[in-house]
Amino acid sequence: MKKFAVLFLLLLPLFAFSESKRIEYEDFTFTAFYRQNLQPGDPVFLRLEFETYKKKFIKKFKANFIEAGNLEVYRLLDEGKLEEKATAKSKFYNIEKNVEKKHVKSVLLTASPLSTWAKLGDYVAKIEFVAFERRGVVEIPFKICEKEFISETIPLNASNTKIRTNTSSERMEQIKRLNAILDTKNYDAVYETSSFAPPTPATRRTSFFGDRRVFAYSNGKSSTSLHYGIDYGVPSGSEVRSCGRGKVVMAEDRITTGWSVCIEHLPGLYSLYYHMSQLDVQLGQMVEKGELLGLSGATGLATGPHLHWEIRLNMEAINPDFMTEDFAFSVQE
Ligand SMILES: [Zn+2]
Repeated sequence: MKKFAVLFLLLLPLFAFSESKRIEYEDFTFTAFYRQNLQPGDPVFLRLEFETYKKKFIKKFKANFIEAGNLEVYRLLDEGKLEEKATAKSKFYNIEKNVEKKHVKSVLLTASPLSTWAKLGDYVAKIEFVAFERRGVVEIPFKICEKEFISETIPLNASNTKIRTNTSSERMEQIKRLNAILDTKNYDAVYETSSFAPPTPATRRTSFFGDRRVFAYSNGKSSTSLHYGIDYGVPSGSEVRSCGRGKVVMAEDRITTGWSVCIEHLPGLYSLYYHMSQLDVQLGQMVEKGELLGLSGATGLATGPHLHWEIRLNMEAINPDFMTEDFAFSVQE
């Protein structure tokens, strides 16, 4: 009995991590895995499993596997109504299929980002799908809980001020090009569905995700900005490794971010590594989780050597720490 109690306590955080909702339809079972409590800047990930034992669908399902579906996130207003405009929207994509003689299972994933400025309170994740010749609507309640973000003022010297206020066509072109990459959703790009590994074993962080910043320029002027990633205070020359399996979609020297790498991991989901001194990967190459991307440095706009690690989902910067947990609910009982 005692042993069991200890085991239960050890497993408790795992169970607390995700919730699930199961619905038995006439011809199939629908199960959604999700997180009940999120914070501003976290993504809303939903894992959806469709399962059937019905003979009439099994044959058909082989040929026409993907169910149409999308997620819309709405804020729940005081009167119990949903806010008119959706906070976020995303499509489902297939991450796994399992076709057996008497049983088929299709696993889909969808993810929407929540801004670091998202309002706190009650929300509803509205799932719409077409599966097994049936249209379904499922609403899942969740909460956005409070999170404190740091505010800081960063004095920039003349050369960093020059980078930050650079309006050259070259810099504008670089920004436009990266935005075009981050705005691309390839629904076949399903490369990583297990927890990300931090890009460095270093634990010293010099800046955090979502820091509200004021840059104080050397000319007395200033501007505000949001810190999109995590800064690790590592000496130049430290190894930088890919946080997950994926495709190198950018590997180049940029005015603001220095030597930079961008990896595509899932549809609309990218990781970024900035201010490096050396790159060891090339555009178009596939990398494994933990594979060496290059060495850290202080190139671009940097007040000292560090590694900037950032994750973008549908253009929006999301909390990188969220991604080091089981974001796709791939480990199950
Ligand atoms: Zn940074």
